Amino acid sequence: MRVGGQARWLLEPTTPEELREAYLAARERDLPIRYLGGGANIIPADGVWEGVVICTTQMRRIFRPLPGTENDSPLEEDEPDARTAMPPVEQDPRLIAWAGTTLPALMRAARDLGLSGLEGLAGVPGQVGGGIAMNAGGTWGDLWDHAEYVQVINHGGEFQTLTREEANPTYRNGGVHGSLVVGAVWRLEPRPRLVVQEQIAEYLRHKRDVQPVTESSAGCIFKNPDKEKSEGRSAGALVDQMGLKGLTIGAAQVSQKHANFIINNGGATASDVYQLMDEVRDRVAQKSGVELEFEVKRWLV
Ligand SMILES: Cc1cc2nc3c(=O)[nH]c(=O)nc-3n(C[C@H](O)[C@H](O)[C@H](O)COP(=O)(O)OP(=O)(O)OC[C@H]3O[C@@H](n4cnc5c(N)ncnc54)[C@H](O)[C@@H]3O)c2cc1C
Repeated sequence: MRVGGQARWLLEPTTPEELREAYLAARERDLPIRYLGGGANIIPADGVWEGVVICTTQMRRIFRPLPGTENDSPLEEDEPDARTAMPPVEQDPRLIAWAGTTLPALMRAARDLGLSGLEGLAGVPGQVGGGIAMNAGGTWGDLWDHAEYVQVINHGGEFQTLTREEANPTYRNGGVHGSLVVGAVWRLEPRPRLVVQEQIAEYLRHKRDVQPVTESSAGCIFKNPDKEKSEGRSAGALVDQMGLKGLTIGAAQVSQKHANFIINNGGATASDVYQLMDEVRDRVAQKSGVELEFEVKRWLV
């Protein structure tokens, strides 16, 4: 969204062990902690937040598991020996990524290997850690769909493995309950590279048609409401029907292209965006009776 202030501390670990050290260092000093991935789904308040932001951007790593690790938790940094022949993807269709890997990079790596299952992430910005925490995705699939397990640092500061069944991810909720995501392992389906590519291209075309992808935004502001309560209308459809497209506060505006997006027309403050979010939510509630819930995270100071 390109708004918001600063944090007193920013830590950028480069490995899972450093990530844990960062977490423990902040805990030992009794400082409040927040986790930051790509920031695609966060609207931080203006001003300075007196806490520690742990950012995973430097933890960009994608790899395939070494042969013979079928039953292990292969999230460690083992470099395959140059002499180790990697099995064809048909034999081991797993892909591993650390928290700071961007979702587009993960999707491209799968495509290049001829692995299918992550195409639904086409056009979704952000990183693996934030994506797992949010269960990012949409109509064509979510990030957790093919995840075999996720490694987290739990509230006690220990590494812990969570299977999909244990996390029980739901719509825009990865079920990690505030644990710090370290990385994940996906079990994908071998498929011809060109078929995967075509699918991604089709989804991207659709996204570009309906979303303001070239503007500064935080993606969808509201979660889609319960279909029964909203008579089947999505959050975007509700905002649109209330006539709120184009509503502007400061330089923040409800997108003309997609009513569930707020865009920064240049120079907006977080305060402009917060006020507009509240205004839209209140007007929708008054006129339709549907209470919309924020999908984006507001980081208050
Ligand atoms: C143009 C645009 C289009 C978008 N389209 C979609 C879409 O189609 N579908 C969709 O689901 N989302 C969409 N989004 C939202 C966003 O891309 C996703 O929510 C994405 O997963 C956010 O990843 P991130 O790394 O940027 O997370 P951030 O925004 O940095 O963080 C999001 C949340 O995850 C937490 N978090 C971050 N890293 C970690 C970690 N390592 N461990 C634990 N918690 C962590 C943060 O504290 C925060 O609560 C869109 C956003 C934009 C700007």
